[in-house]
Amino acid sequence: MEMNLLVVAYLIGSVTFIVGLKMLSNPASARKGNLVAAAGMTIAILATIFLYKDESGNPLGNYTWIFAALAIGSVAGTLMAKRVQMTAMPEMVSLFNGMGGACAALISVIEFGHLEEKDPATLLIILLGLIIGAVSFAGSIIAWGKLNGKIKDFAFGGQHIFNLALLFFILGIASYLVIAMPENMSLLFYGVVALSILYGIFFVLPIGGADMPVVISLLNSFTGVAAACGGFLYENKVMLTGGILVGAAGTLLTILMCNAMNRSLKNVLIGSFGAGATPSSSGAQGGTYKEVSMSDAAVVMSYANKVMIVPGYGLAVAQAQHVCHELEKTLEAKGVEVKYAIHPVAGRMPGHMNVLLAEADVSYDKLLEMEQANEEFKNTDVVLILGANDVVNPAAKSDPASPIYGMPILEVEDAKHVIVNKRSMKPGYAGIENQLFFQPKTSMLFGDAKKALQDLLAEIRSI
Ligand code: NDP
Repeated sequence: MEMNLLVVAYLIGSVTFIVGLKMLSNPASARKGNLVAAAGMTIAILATIFLYKDESGNPLGNYTWIFAALAIGSVAGTLMAKRVQMTAMPEMVSLFNGMGGACAALISVIEFGHLEEKDPATLLIILLGLIIGAVSFAGSIIAWGKLNGKIKDFAFGGQHIFNLALLFFILGIASYLVIAMPENMSLLFYGVVALSILYGIFFVLPIGGADMPVVISLLNSFTGVAAACGGFLYENKVMLTGGILVGAAGTLLTILMCNAMNRSLKNVLIGSFGAGATPSSSGAQGGTYKEVSMSDAAVVMSYANKVMIVPGYGLAVAQAQHVCHELEKTLEAKGVEVKYAIHPVAGRMPGHMNVLLAEADVSYDKLLEMEQANEEFKNTDVVLILGANDVVNPAAKSDPASPIYGMPILEVEDAKHVIVNKRSMKPGYAGIENQLFFQPKTSMLFGDAKKALQDLLAEIRSI
């Protein structure tokens, strides 16, 4: 009976993962989707703790250890998630993902100790979970360090060849262990642990810090696959389903991010994007640009029929989403139609702008995806760009030599006026000049996004 209940609990867990994932694909249901999947995970964990029995009918036991670990993990996780800044989300995801990889690797280490008879199939799964989990753990920790600035990019001549050789060496030892199953395997097995950690470090170290979101997504899919190996080992269906879903979702997300930047995964992993570009602090190379005063910007926007706001990384850094929403409401009260144009890779993580604007209660039906927005710019009077740069850079369409050439962009030049808010003429993530800033219909509104919007709001209210 209890065993049947366990199966039902696992089934509920698996279904909630799938439903939750589906709900995550729409900003309106994403928050609930997360809760649904988390509830499924809670059911799966509690069912395992209380309903699982081994072949001899013994329960799990070790309850003090299990609940102490659960309590520590839950408190630490909740505090971190509550305190994290929106711009530091990729860092936290990376750290949590690293912990998942470490768990999968530790499961393999423990199950290696339980491997009693010669069983190459089980050893194969153990080694797969170990290698993938250890690479994901070490790689994620390096990615976390890079994102918070503690670890600098590091590469040496021939590193990619060295990495490939190291990977083949690890796979060679693992194949030997599975095929030959020698008497004393421990030394080689723990050698694989150490080398896999080393590989994870060398795999991520040379990749440009700004490419970390793509790498984290890739490592996330690794962790999923490693967890699925654990599911195989324990014949645990919910672990298997969860692992496969994470593996598949992480892979799809990696592909989507690469496509949205028009780059191949190979280019992200070994291409050191934008590394050669030196950020220029003046607009000298691009020609002359003009500035707009707060009061003029306020007038143009107040008397417009339609304003499109383009949020970017700078909006997130400045935490200006709430005042941005205020601006939207104030303009709408004056009869101006306001919408938001969302580029798929605006900001530093997938869905960054949607999450940010949702936090400020911006209505989802105001958020236009890139294709829809590009249709509407023609009928837009004013585009207000808030801390976005690369996602509106026309070089992506016109300059084949540009590192972002081919990346689909928001075609803001189709609107009548473009107002760009940023703090200086410095480039964004790709480290390249933006000709949009020098076009006749563009005006620069310099300043921190939050302060600039507060001032703009005050001016608009006074009209
Ligand atoms: P960018 O990084 O191109 O530009 C952001 C701009 O914001 C900068 O030029 C900066 O200019 C300005 N800025 C910074 N701080 C502030 C502030 N406090 N107030 C006002 N402005 C500020 O951002 P985009 O969103 O346009 O583009 C995202 C980039 O990130 C793309 O190249 C994309 O490929 C990349 N990327 C995105 C990922 C994702 O998943 N979303 C993943 C990996 C990469 P200044 O210093 O002058 O203020």
